[in-house]
Amino acid sequence: MGRITLDKVTKTFGEVEVIPPLDLVIEDGEFTVFVGPSGCGKSTLLRLIAGLEDITTGQIRIDGADATNVPPARRGLAMVFQSYALYPHMSVRKNIAFPLRMAGLDKAEQTRRVEQAAAVLNLTDYLDRRPGQLSGGQRQRVAIGRAIVREPAAFLFDEPLSNLDAALRVGMRLEISELHERLKTTMIYVTHDQVEAMTMADKIVVLRAGNIEQVGSPLELYRTPRNLFVAGFIGSPR
Ligand code: ADP
Ligand code: MG
Repeated sequence: MGRITLDKVTKTFGEVEVIPPLDLVIEDGEFTVFVGPSGCGKSTLLRLIAGLEDITTGQIRIDGADATNVPPARRGLAMVFQSYALYPHMSVRKNIAFPLRMAGLDKAEQTRRVEQAAAVLNLTDYLDRRPGQLSGGQRQRVAIGRAIVREPAAFLFDEPLSNLDAALRVGMRLEISELHERLKTTMIYVTHDQVEAMTMADKIVVLRAGNIEQVGSPLELYRTPRNLFVAGFIGSPR
């Protein structure tokens, strides 16, 4: 399960309201992309959902339950960080198992989950290597593996591919899309790249200065952008 509901959520830093009252429903299993220019509030919104920032007012619900004051580790969501967040001195196996070790899962269960994630991500042959001995794409897959083993209700990605070169980025997009096909778990993916949004999303949320300009499928946004901002950003011919 992984249905996430934001009800009149706001976020203020000091005097600045970065997120004005915002309502949004993310359906279970959906691949939702938050897209918009730099500084529009994408990361803030994702961090509010993850619980890494407290909302100022409003309510966040996960599968119907009020999660507003639930600490991040108990929300059942997994944030996927960029591959450079791996521990260089640990093997791939230990990197992937890390959150399970922290949670105190028994060794056998850790091994089972790590091996399952490695199989899904084609990392089985690399479990005893260190991050430095992997390609950029493999390192990114390890970062995703560390999220998969937690069996989250949703995966949250904040521009996970922005430090990869262009060719690798295309491949990783396909891999993340395929992962969504396989796991059918809710994914929220933040990017400023409209191509990424258009090719990966079931549903796109276009943000501008913390406001939702439009929500819809890539085709809906392309065919019927609600305003010039969306049209311009999506690159539709209107
Ligand atoms: P994006 O991810 O879309 O580039 P962010 O969510 O990082 O945008 O930032 C949105 C706005 O909130 C920016 O104006 C940024 O400067 C501001 N902001 C983000 N985090 C903080 C913070 N911890 N304190 C103050 N302002 C912040
Ligand atoms: Mg950001």
